[in-house]
Amino acid sequence: MCFMSMIQNEFGCMVFGDAEMRQRLPKEIYRSLRKTIETGCELDHGVSGVVASAMKDWALEKGATHYTHWFQPMTGITAEKHDSFLCPTGDGEAIAEFSSKDLKRGEPDASSFPSGGLRTTFEARGYTAWDPTSYAFIKDKTLCVPTAFFSYGGEALDKKTPLLRSMEAVNIQALRILRLFGNTTTKRVITTVGPEQEYFLVDKDIHDKRKDLVYTGRTLYGAMPPKGQELEDHYFGTIKPRVKAYMEDLNNELWHLGVYAKTEHNEAAPAQHELAPVFTNTNIATDHNQLTMEIMKKVALRNGLVCILHEKPFAGVNGSGKHNNWSLATDDGINLLEPGDTPYENAQFLLFLAAVIAGVDEYQDLLRVSAASAGNDHRLGASEAPPAILSIFLGDQLTGVLDAIENENEYENMQKTKMRVGVTVLPAFSKDLTDRNRTSPFAFTGNKFEFRMLGSAFSIAESNIILNTIAAEQLSRFADRLESAESFTDELHQIIKTTIKDHKRIIFNGNNYTDAWEKEAEKRGLSNLKTTADALPHFKTEKSIALFEKHRIFTRTEVMSRYEILVENYCKVLNIEALTMIDMARKNIIPACEKYAGMIAKTAANMKTVGISVEAETTALTRLSGLLLSMYRQTETLEKVSNGMKKFADNTELSCYCRDTLIPAMNSLREVADELETIVGEEYWPYPTYGSLLFGVC
Ligand code: ADP
Ligand code: MG
Repeated sequence: MCFMSMIQNEFGCMVFGDAEMRQRLPKEIYRSLRKTIETGCELDHGVSGVVASAMKDWALEKGATHYTHWFQPMTGITAEKHDSFLCPTGDGEAIAEFSSKDLKRGEPDASSFPSGGLRTTFEARGYTAWDPTSYAFIKDKTLCVPTAFFSYGGEALDKKTPLLRSMEAVNIQALRILRLFGNTTTKRVITTVGPEQEYFLVDKDIHDKRKDLVYTGRTLYGAMPPKGQELEDHYFGTIKPRVKAYMEDLNNELWHLGVYAKTEHNEAAPAQHELAPVFTNTNIATDHNQLTMEIMKKVALRNGLVCILHEKPFAGVNGSGKHNNWSLATDDGINLLEPGDTPYENAQFLLFLAAVIAGVDEYQDLLRVSAASAGNDHRLGASEAPPAILSIFLGDQLTGVLDAIENENEYENMQKTKMRVGVTVLPAFSKDLTDRNRTSPFAFTGNKFEFRMLGSAFSIAESNIILNTIAAEQLSRFADRLESAESFTDELHQIIKTTIKDHKRIIFNGNNYTDAWEKEAEKRGLSNLKTTADALPHFKTEKSIALFEKHRIFTRTEVMSRYEILVENYCKVLNIEALTMIDMARKNIIPACEKYAGMIAKTAANMKTVGISVEAETTALTRLSGLLLSMYRQTETLEKVSNGMKKFADNTELSCYCRDTLIPAMNSLREVADELETIVGEEYWPYPTYGSLLFGVC
């Protein structure tokens, strides 16, 4: 058998997927479960017991010893608590058991997960509930059942619950639109996602010698090596053997888990790479992306490497992001963001497009919030990733079409016909033309949108919750209008025309990295929330809460608790970074510099005794001692500033203090240390340099 067919055979072998279900479940049980998976409806009575038993048999055959409810709490990573299948029989023996209740419901203690104050007002207990729409799988001999996690009072404590709610919201509203277009066959509209994942790969031995990487995932100090990414020789370059071996190992594990890992290549920065899967429905894509990040790290360790997912592990070279490719599709295979060939398909496409344009413009700030974190603040706006300003790239062709519709003009490429939605056929868009603006935060790429603001370490849940919700909101407004319109076609034309007119300020096809765009965006009234501290409060405005409540995504209480979690996380991350910097300065950098200075002083003394000039040594020592004095002072300042955080009872105020006072103090300290690094002898420097980290894997 060839290698590829072996891979095909083993694809998804650790997943209790459709084929296993069909084979192992009685017909009517399978059909009932399938209905729940496809439509999201509640499970019929009696189904879960049969499924649990089949799942257990399958898991035991695959060598599993434990099971767990696998969930996605607000930490951003996944959580699992393993229970063995063993159950005492009372006569000193044991059998393997996994009941309907074990499958459906779990009760992990919620008090040790972030709850943003929810657990002080409600019971500490938390519950997990089986999500049958995402397949169970086996990882490390443990059957993992994807679940939602919520509090005693029913509030969502995780990222999956609101994601499922947002998928339902968009389904309801999109179906209304499809029915208006005369579609009676589609049963469900889903959103699809393909997240491209960037990461760094460094040697583990070198990595472990740096406290900053170990504690914070990024380098808090570090001077640039003589070579960075300026030769542009890494992007799409030949993959080095050790990296290729890692990628093979990684793909293998991901394929077993049914993750469609597809594309792999080197990225712009040295030691940076990317993995892109084939897109799938948003719920599964989110689970798979969490799994991918976890397995990337695990497989790296096995290969003597560390996979760094932080957004900005190294200053001076690109950081890592995640591109969230997003579209809307029907259960019968229509991509609703595909322009299509007929006037009917074109009109429907334009309406969905208009919904996205209006949604992104009206809720720019929410999309920005969904990409906000202390780590990602280093990227957005730093001319390597999109700026903190939301805008949409449509490409010249599509923008031209929208212009023509808005002004009831002729579209130049269309033989003097006036653009009339539902009547005129759109020109065929060439996808190559639409895909090339890499600087846009939100680009139309022919039949989907690519949201490029996310940080590499993010769960993709938040961004997709927002995308789904804002799409649902605009579609619901359109449906309200169309349902009560006298003439469907006239109203349709009118909606598209006015939407373009009202929201075209969000469309920008130029270079997003320039200062001129920042000025232009300000003129257009687009928001520019530069830091996480600026962005987060927009999550809890009355406008946002109204949107979330209308579509049953979050209650007001859930919004407030999520805000608290986000803002607290921002401050905590920065405080850990500050403390790590102080620790490294005092315990490593300053002693190393003193030792080096001592060596020079000793050399100078020896030289003096034999009458040789010590001018060079004196000059070096003068510079060193000046910088050392700055090091002492800046370290003390940072310590004071960090202690000052204790004064704040309110996290919003604290986040502003971190932005305005803590971060500048960290930057000042780093500046001195990095200059010292360039003048202190290599053998004296207390931790590995950027050079060895970025070029250390062959
Ligand atoms: P690139 O952006 O690198 O040029 P592509 O645009 O071809 O590459 O694909 C990037 C990602 O977009 C892949 O993960 C792919 O599966 C995903 N993708 C393609 N079509 C869709 C779609 N309809 N919905 C969501 N994601 C999609
Ligand atoms: Mg892409």
